Amino acid sequence: MNLSTERLINELQTHGVRLVDPKAGVESRRGGAGPSDHKALTIDGMTFMAPVHTAPAFESPYTVAKPDASGVSQVWRDGEALREVRFPSRPRFYDLTTAEGVPYWKIATLHGRDVLATTVLQTCIRYQSRTKTCQFCAIGQSLAAGRTVERKTPHQLAEVAKAAVELDDIKHMVMTTGTPRGADRGAAILCESASAVKNAVYLPIQAQCEPPDEDHWFTQMKASGVDALGMHLEVVTPELRKRLMPGKAEVPVERYLAAYEAAVPVFGRGQVSTYILAGLGDTAEAILDISEKLVALGVYPFVVPFVPISGTPLESHPAPAPEFMHAILKPLARMIVAGGLKATDIKAGCGKCGACSALSTYERTLTP
Ligand code: SF4
Repeated sequence: MNLSTERLINELQTHGVRLVDPKAGVESRRGGAGPSDHKALTIDGMTFMAPVHTAPAFESPYTVAKPDASGVSQVWRDGEALREVRFPSRPRFYDLTTAEGVPYWKIATLHGRDVLATTVLQTCIRYQSRTKTCQFCAIGQSLAAGRTVERKTPHQLAEVAKAAVELDDIKHMVMTTGTPRGADRGAAILCESASAVKNAVYLPIQAQCEPPDEDHWFTQMKASGVDALGMHLEVVTPELRKRLMPGKAEVPVERYLAAYEAAVPVFGRGQVSTYILAGLGDTAEAILDISEKLVALGVYPFVVPFVPISGTPLESHPAPAPEFMHAILKPLARMIVAGGLKATDIKAGCGKCGACSALSTYERTLTP
């Protein structure tokens, strides 16, 4: 079986992997915002998140053997060793605690290879009732299990960010947030958090929130030290948005598009992005159609395979087939490169990290 790197990563992200030694590498997170139930792996220099604790992963045809002392292993399928795999090592900042005794890993975690990620506010107005919650989201699970703190203070974030840069060579930071009450939709707490981190250490930051009601927040976020902004559509077909994320769908796609138009001149082309979960019912055409509009606006469409997280209403929803993702990612990479919005040019955030999708590996095949 001779798969190209981008096809192999795509296979591993959609099927998931069975780990012979579940303790290998950096401990995987269960629940929370962003990638959960995953493990970071590196193949051919590309670090990606592969599901390991999900229902499809338990049935995956791919296994990863126990790594040797230097963290090197092989990925296997049908008795054949396909490729060398590396496990990024556990970051040193995970061993530290704040003066009040909060472990640093409860404040921010390592994502991919060199990204520090935090959910500034671990509660969300969209998560309060099962009729409003985004059906794929696990933001409340890690909080309920005591694996994180509800509100990370600017001081805590600055302290952890400084240590992560100094001890683990972290290159950029993702600050996401549950949506609080209020028309700023989290922009205000992102401003104070970014400002504190930037005063402590040089670290490019991506902030992520729903589009605030007023566009002046974009200039305020930029002035506070936010280098890149993510406003995530997640699902693009209006009827599906209403069904799968009834609370968040109260902000219509049109508002997202208007917000992108206002934010791109502030942050620059390619520094504003969106996150689209493929596999929840949007057709490949619908995702590629909106991506074309987004690229024209200067917005990077980061399309990732949906991962059914345990404990969410969609835990039994199937992951997308590798062919479906390939049918999106191949033309999408071409569209992005032709539009001049490469992942490698993004200053910070998910599009730059790229670990939740094979998209940047597809892009790499198109650029010298
Ligand atoms: S792409 Fe974003 S959510 Fe995924 S591992 Fe990287 S920083 Fe985290």
